[in-house]
Amino acid sequence: MIPSAVFTRKFNLQHAKNYVNIIRNISAASSKFDLPLRYQGNDKSVWVDYINLDQKYKPLNLGQGFPDFFAPTHVTDALATATKSNDPLLNQYTRSFGHPRLVNILGKLYSQVLNRHIDPFSEVLVTVGAYEAVYAALQGHTDVGDEWVVIEPFFDCYESLVKISGGVPRFVPLKPKKTSGIISSSDWVFDKEEMASLFNQKTKGIILNTPMNPLGKVFTQDELEFIADLAKKWNAIVISDEVYEWMVYENAKHIRIASLPGMYDRTITIGSAGKTFSITGWKLGWAYGPEKLLHNLKVVHQNCVYTCATPLQEAVAVGFEQELERFGQPNSYFNTLSQELLPKRDFMAKFLSDIGMSPSVPDGGFFMIANWEALADQVPLHEEPDEFRDYRFTKWMTKHVGIQGIPPSTFYCPEHKHLGEDLVRFCFIKKDENLQKAADILYKWNSSYLRQKSAGA
Ligand code: PMP
Ligand code: GLN
Repeated sequence: MIPSAVFTRKFNLQHAKNYVNIIRNISAASSKFDLPLRYQGNDKSVWVDYINLDQKYKPLNLGQGFPDFFAPTHVTDALATATKSNDPLLNQYTRSFGHPRLVNILGKLYSQVLNRHIDPFSEVLVTVGAYEAVYAALQGHTDVGDEWVVIEPFFDCYESLVKISGGVPRFVPLKPKKTSGIISSSDWVFDKEEMASLFNQKTKGIILNTPMNPLGKVFTQDELEFIADLAKKWNAIVISDEVYEWMVYENAKHIRIASLPGMYDRTITIGSAGKTFSITGWKLGWAYGPEKLLHNLKVVHQNCVYTCATPLQEAVAVGFEQELERFGQPNSYFNTLSQELLPKRDFMAKFLSDIGMSPSVPDGGFFMIANWEALADQVPLHEEPDEFRDYRFTKWMTKHVGIQGIPPSTFYCPEHKHLGEDLVRFCFIKKDENLQKAADILYKWNSSYLRQKSAGA
């Protein structure tokens, strides 16, 4: 008979061995299924967080950029027609690199605006939103260690997409030339020496975004020529994200860097149907450029999503065909949308200034950056645990004031995040009544604060 103490010891030993094995297996499994290295550090997204906040607190949402009004009917009707068409193939897969009707009209449009022939079948690629075009451009043109120059504040995915592709982002911030009085997005400039110092033998390219998200800056001829000269000097390419190409205001002029001498051959230009036709939910975009550069994007695309939704492409093609007929005329959607946006921009700039913020009035796009530092004592920032002040400000405003903006530190690299901490980004492609509601909410909040302040004084 085994003495019970020995039995217990034996049993415990066996038990412990099993336990160790289980733990070993679990930890092996957990490292086996960890996020791959190339994605590590990229698991946070301001859009995911702020959409969650929006669902929970239901503020007036001036955060993520999308119109809250109907898309033009000639485009939405074209989608209905495409899906109900007598041609059964319009609901089936189409050509991988772009539905023929869409690449044809994109080729025609950009041939016209660039004043050179763009071959629709070799120089245009249709993608799942402009986002996939940026992804394909970076995946297709980055080897490990290649450097990309990124201008801050940048559309946040540039940083993560460069890193995921194995590249190294090098950042150059725009800084405002003035900080009081009426500030325009054109007052935000880069230091030419600083920009030039980032280029070297390892530079694969620069990511340009004009008109720019989040600032609304429209890069000038002089700035674009400076960038173009650096690209030529260092044999670098330009990814030019021009999704807001048709939204420019007053005297600002959208210049395509691909149109500058010698630049078409080293530029990949990106556009978005979402922005062009106020249909952000369709997620349809494109890239165009020289065949040699586009080839790499096509390889990424065919090994990733392969092809984009056919009826969406058909409908966007119809939209462009109609726009091309009235191109440059007052009734073109490209004109009417900008005209509709201009008073919205001015209305927002006014109500933000009235409550004490300092907005930078954009020359393009549909976002406005504003400095809220003067209102800092109205907001108990300590109530929010986030590291950056703009996150605390925007979260507190969402929860307690009922208005949502985006924290701009997200548009800066870790070393430069402080440059965005006193700022907030608001979106103004919203119905007038909703902009009025935003103004009312902020005026009410501000006046109750002022009342409290004068009562306490
Ligand atoms: N680039 C910029 C500058 C943007 O603001 C956005 C936002 N949507 C995109 C690309 C992505 O566009 P899409 O929705 O067509 O993917
Ligand atoms: N471009 C939009 C914005 O900046 C949407 C962001 C996104 O789709 N990730 O708000």
